Amino acid sequence: MALPVTDLRARLASLPGLETLLPVLGELAWPSYLVGGAVRDLLRGERSIDLDIAVEGDAPAAAHALAARLGGTALGHERFGTATIRVGSLTADLATTRREVYDRPGALPRVEPAPLHEDLGRRDFTVNAMAVALTGEGLGTLHDPHGGRTDLDAGWIRVLHQASFVDDPTRLLRALRYEARLGFALHPDTERLAREAAAGGALLTLSGDRIRVELEALLAEPDAPGAVARLTQLGLDRALHPALAADPQLVASAQLGALQTGASPVLSALAALCIGASSDGQRQDLERWVAGLGLPAPAREAVLSATRRAPALADQLASPLRPSELHESLTGEPAETLALALALGAPAEPILHYLAALRPARLEITGADLVAAGIPESPLLGRALRETLRLKLDGELCGREEELRTALSLAREAR
Ligand code: ATP
Repeated sequence: MALPVTDLRARLASLPGLETLLPVLGELAWPSYLVGGAVRDLLRGERSIDLDIAVEGDAPAAAHALAARLGGTALGHERFGTATIRVGSLTADLATTRREVYDRPGALPRVEPAPLHEDLGRRDFTVNAMAVALTGEGLGTLHDPHGGRTDLDAGWIRVLHQASFVDDPTRLLRALRYEARLGFALHPDTERLAREAAAGGALLTLSGDRIRVELEALLAEPDAPGAVARLTQLGLDRALHPALAADPQLVASAQLGALQTGASPVLSALAALCIGASSDGQRQDLERWVAGLGLPAPAREAVLSATRRAPALADQLASPLRPSELHESLTGEPAETLALALALGAPAEPILHYLAALRPARLEITGADLVAAGIPESPLLGRALRETLRLKLDGELCGREEELRTALSLAREAR
């Protein structure tokens, strides 16, 4: 049921910071609107809302005018017709209302300024395709040309038109993200279109970067395992890559493992998606897919090394190891490998002991102490120090004197 304008005005006025913006927006030449997820969340009664404002006019110019009047800063991207303003603790994103033209499926669209109704018509789902007027007589009026309000009440995620997923297959991942976040479900017609688009190879038209952005956002949701379960149900995992086997339980355990080890929950969950390869060829192909996602190099290496190493590590840790063996096995492994090993059933105790006690362990002596005692610099010296550390980790040495004596005798023996 539509809320009366007065109710929406009152809700707008209660949004932190908006009361400062509204009078100044009203003085500008262009109509402006709260749009997208902000309206959805406003109608759901959320208290914390990202202010996304659409301007039927020049959004960067509007942002500069607001910043000048309110004593804030504006960062404009004139080419894209977007800008961000900051006034004290308030942040708002402004964008010129636009239409989007897809030259080919999966490509980024060309954008051109257009009236509000076209801006709403280019959006992903009905619940994200509403606007509330922020200016003029109609302040507080809901613009809802696609029935977003009804779907919001019913809990449906529904696309605006039949070709939506083919035009932009990132919407397949976005749909599951909103399902998980809002506790909604795909409308049956939309679910059918999603299955058809996935089966028809729509996701293969996307660049790795576009997949990564949406996959990371999906895996960052508090209910990522729920979204992953849906990924499998709709066949989107296999559509992304035939060897992706999304196991929600494993993803949940990997996220938990990430909390225990200080790993990134998103990268650990991504690694959990990628351990289903059944042959070397498939594994290499999956690794190429991960490499093509355009992750920064350390993140990519963390995911790849977790998928390669975690299963063997989980096996190895099933039997008791000496502290020095544990140290040797785990040193240099990214935290994501440890998180995934935990998810695969590795016992927590040795991993947590490694992180808390073994990883930070250091000798009280250094190479300089050995050189001062007459040992020439050479690789033997490093080997003697490593062996001394090993003995220390296993509790066979105590204190600086014992360390020095042991390291010296090891170095001399080696010579
Ligand atoms: P929220 O919906 O809560 O803002 P978000 O911050 O992840 O979630 P963004 O990706 O910033 O959302 O998108 C903001 C709005 O832009 C969406 O609500 C939607 O209306 C629109 N939008 C974003 N991506 C797309 C897309 N691929 N296709 C159509 N509309 C999109």
